[in-house]
Amino acid sequence: MNIILLGPPGAGKGTQADRIVDKFKLVQLSTGDMLRAAVKAGTEVGQKAKAIMESGGLVSDDIVIGIVSDRIEEPDCANGFILDGFPRTVAQAEALDTMLADKKLQLDAVVELKVDEGALLARMENRVKETLAAGGQVRKDDNPETFRQRLEAYKAQTAPLSEFYAKTGRLKTIDGMQSIDEVTGEINNVLSAVA
Ligand code: AMP
Repeated sequence: MNIILLGPPGAGKGTQADRIVDKFKLVQLSTGDMLRAAVKAGTEVGQKAKAIMESGGLVSDDIVIGIVSDRIEEPDCANGFILDGFPRTVAQAEALDTMLADKKLQLDAVVELKVDEGALLARMENRVKETLAAGGQVRKDDNPETFRQRLEAYKAQTAPLSEFYAKTGRLKTIDGMQSIDEVTGEINNVLSAVA
């Protein structure tokens, strides 16, 4: 089973992806994580992505499409994958359709977490507090100014994907304002039906 998790920054995609990985034995493919690893390793992709990520903008479609295309061919993806943070533009969604068709793979569901915009900044600030309390390292783009930019990028470039996927009947929208367990329960129902 191959699925997409869609939703604004702070919607809880990462938390839910962890749970889906455990239950459905899928691999989580987060383009944000992959790009952060590339920045840390100082690769060519990382060097191109660093400043854009720090400003809260989107890395170019070519770069992320290339990363995802290579990654889904790895053997660990054979049982299925969750795309978290990709696609983020209509061009990426179109490229994904082509890529999957070329690789004879299918997209089984697009799960969208719908969250009130007002709650997102508070969620990010909470995530920062919890990470610091646990002695972890805070993401460079988890600060109020950059977060606002990330939200703007989402509204302008990623939100249109709901309609893109709704048109083909693949979109399943879930109320992300419920408790974490309630959201997990609804996602499990949706995925059990398509698995
Ligand atoms: P995330 O961890 O998904 O919040 O992503 C962190 C940052 O990585 C984003 O703000 C973008 O700069 C970049 N990024 C991650 N995924 C993509 C994508 N699919 N397209 C463009 N930029 C991305």
